[in-house]
Amino acid sequence: MSSQSLKKHLERLDKKYLWHPFTQMKEWEKESPIIIIEGRGSFIKDISGRWYLDGVSSIWVTVHGHRKKEIDDAIKGQIEKVSHSTFLGLTHPPAIELAEKIITTINSSLVTRHSSLSRVFYSDNGSTAVEVALKMAFQYWKHIGVKSKTRFLSLNNAYHGDTIGAVSAGGMDMFHKVFSPLLFKTYKAPSPYCYRCEFGKEHPSCKLYCLKVMDGMMKRYHKEIAGLIIEPTVQGAGGMIVSPPGYLRGVRKLCSKYNVLMIADEVATGFGRTGKMFACEHEDVSPDILCVSKGITGGYLPLAATIATEEIYNAFLGEFKELKTFFHGHTYSGNPLACAAALANIEVFKKDKTLKMMQRKIEILEKGLTEIKKLPHVGNVRQKGFMIGIELVKNKKTKTPYPFEEKIGWNVCHKARAQGLLLRPLGNVIVLMPPLSISHDELEMLTCITASAIKEATG
Ligand SMILES: *Cc1c(COP(=O)(O)O)cnc(C)c1O
Repeated sequence: MSSQSLKKHLERLDKKYLWHPFTQMKEWEKESPIIIIEGRGSFIKDISGRWYLDGVSSIWVTVHGHRKKEIDDAIKGQIEKVSHSTFLGLTHPPAIELAEKIITTINSSLVTRHSSLSRVFYSDNGSTAVEVALKMAFQYWKHIGVKSKTRFLSLNNAYHGDTIGAVSAGGMDMFHKVFSPLLFKTYKAPSPYCYRCEFGKEHPSCKLYCLKVMDGMMKRYHKEIAGLIIEPTVQGAGGMIVSPPGYLRGVRKLCSKYNVLMIADEVATGFGRTGKMFACEHEDVSPDILCVSKGITGGYLPLAATIATEEIYNAFLGEFKELKTFFHGHTYSGNPLACAAALANIEVFKKDKTLKMMQRKIEILEKGLTEIKKLPHVGNVRQKGFMIGIELVKNKKTKTPYPFEEKIGWNVCHKARAQGLLLRPLGNVIVLMPPLSISHDELEMLTCITASAIKEATG
């Protein structure tokens, strides 16, 4: 079969049998999909032989590039031993070694508080890492005899995943509102979204007013609140909303002051994405529970971890009949292939000096973005390391958004695609999230094509 007829064949089957995530399938059926067959470094190739720069790291996961030899080899090596063995009642070397590696990495990255993060609980995606955190926090208070703490505090514009618990903690109306009858009630604190401040204030003269509001909520409800869940430094899916300096540290202080567990959802920000291993490092903060997933395997296989303090872990210890066991688990928890990939991924950070090499690249990105900032329909550019959101507006002066139906984000991404760059927007926000291994030249290509695509689509 020629590649052209193979493409046609696969396209027909895709449209006949598949239902894609976060996709209006009526539109999908009309379009000719890009069928990816190969990846290398920062690029992925479609079935027609065309290479694209992977501008969003295959939705925020690719770390050291596609086909990274060390990770390829680690997975192949593990396949030769065993591809899966359950973690319920058994254990295996890759999961054990990875747990130690995760804890030592955290300990060298985050400040150690009175009780440091020390216990790794595996699951297989970001949403489940969050579900685990919520259930752990909830049950922790039960176990230590505090009956009233049954609720959670989360933020407007938060995104913690798509399972029902994670959606309950979420704060994005577009994704979450229709499911409201299914959700448990959570308290919602303001989003630290300075460009569109909920209180019409300006940073820094606001003196972090949103924190004051959170303080007020905690003061009032702390007896009911088991935990606060937050995406540290960047609210990702909510639009790459970067919180102002001091905000995260302030949140940590409030949690300690009111005896509320701090759950850091670093599913997107973890593993180097913001220029440090974990985003919490930017403000010398250590959470009580940490959720990681996306970048943990370098973008190879589904794996997640929820990491708790020894204090939380200890609360679950008891006699068998006391039923203090944490009754939660997934069939593929701690899958050996995924753990082997994650171990290799973390080792490459050291070997390639990934975080050190990133610092210059962050500056190059910053420079490219200053040009983009000047464009007439670019309202706000937000950057934290390799997480970038470019918010497009109909009117720059009045900050009037483009109407949803105009699909401005998608239009920009279609223009970028035609120039060999793959992106996926968040509404009116263009997201740039390249692999951490991207080269200086490729970074320039990324910002140049983005600028040109924005000009074309908004011109
Ligand atoms: C992507 C994401 C999740 C959900 O992860 P999945 O693997 O898609 O379930 C949760 N929290 C944050 C911050 C994320 O970015």
